[in-house]
Amino acid sequence: LPSRLPKVGTTIFTVMSALANEHKAINLGQGFPDFDCDPALPEAVYKAMRDGHNQYPPMTGIAPLREAVSQKISALYGHHYDPATEITITAGGTQGIFTVIACAINPGDEVIVIEPVYDSYIPSIDTVGGTAVPVQLIVKRNDDGDISGYEIPWDAMAKAITSRTKMIMINSPHNPTGMVWQSADIDRLADLVRDTDILICSDEVYEHMVFDGKDHQSVARHPELAQRSFVISSFGKTYHVTGWKVGYVAAPAHLSAEFRKVHQFNVFTINTPVQYGLADYLKNPDPYLNLAGFYQQKRNYMRQGLEQTKFKLLPAPGTYFQCVDYTQLGIPQAKLNSSDFCQWLTKEVGVAAIPVSAFYSDPVESGVIRFCFAKKESTLAEALKRLQSI
Ligand code: GLN
Repeated sequence: LPSRLPKVGTTIFTVMSALANEHKAINLGQGFPDFDCDPALPEAVYKAMRDGHNQYPPMTGIAPLREAVSQKISALYGHHYDPATEITITAGGTQGIFTVIACAINPGDEVIVIEPVYDSYIPSIDTVGGTAVPVQLIVKRNDDGDISGYEIPWDAMAKAITSRTKMIMINSPHNPTGMVWQSADIDRLADLVRDTDILICSDEVYEHMVFDGKDHQSVARHPELAQRSFVISSFGKTYHVTGWKVGYVAAPAHLSAEFRKVHQFNVFTINTPVQYGLADYLKNPDPYLNLAGFYQQKRNYMRQGLEQTKFKLLPAPGTYFQCVDYTQLGIPQAKLNSSDFCQWLTKEVGVAAIPVSAFYSDPVESGVIRFCFAKKESTLAEALKRLQSI
């Protein structure tokens, strides 16, 4: 079979989780919690099953869940999405993103992506015959040469736009860097695409993990951008149930209609009882409102522990990821590329991480790796002990 994706292997998350298991390492690689969800959530799902909600739901998702999502978005971002025509429940963020691309991108269309970029975007574009046009986040360094953060490459993005540009994909809070867009960035994006037909795919699956008192800047807050955007979110991230694979896509009716045409033949719909459970659970805003505080505490714990090592900490303003620069550890392995360094760290130190170079189409070596801190404090404590022993 001529491969549709000749350059693609198994995802880095699967590879590193398998390596972590093989070597019994603490898995701070693939992003998922090692603690369980609120028991009230599965209780609501069992109840839905017992109540007989066990047949096909509507193709777009059950109405109470779409209504609850619509209310959440209105309350947080001040934009009303009609639950009947503008919100669709998906099998997680990844399926939402794939279906956005499949419904919007024709062969030859160009899609601008910002690297480091989540690993599913470019293969999704390639699958449907589109052309990914990567631009790179600008790496900022302080006077000591340490990475002090990232900036959106506005000039490169403006230069990358051609008459074939169909879509720009953005992601805030950003995986893997944790970078968070500010409201000025959203305004700047609106300026960039004004007077064009460029669509926006906005991956906001970490929307409830923005730290230090800042607000998440959804494109839904910006009336002009909302009109041309697909907004993706994930219940797995928000409710500690990554294995349930449920999320949603919000988009204006004319875009949602096209999304749904593909969605119905892609997965048709998402399992019924989990949707009822989520609809019930979503009525209480506290779990998602408290999530940033919950993860900020873990982030701070992780940072305090890493400060006792020679890893250089990068800013971590959002997501459940902490990136570090390992190039100044003062050991021979500090010269390895980040992929080999992660292999060594997993096998010899017993802590798995993800190389940030895996998020570039042409691996760029900045000597940065990503740790996931969505873990019990005891897990983080043991991982930190091992990292401190390097
Ligand atoms: N989003 C998760 C991460 O970045 C991985 C999800 C997956 O393994 N597909 O770690």
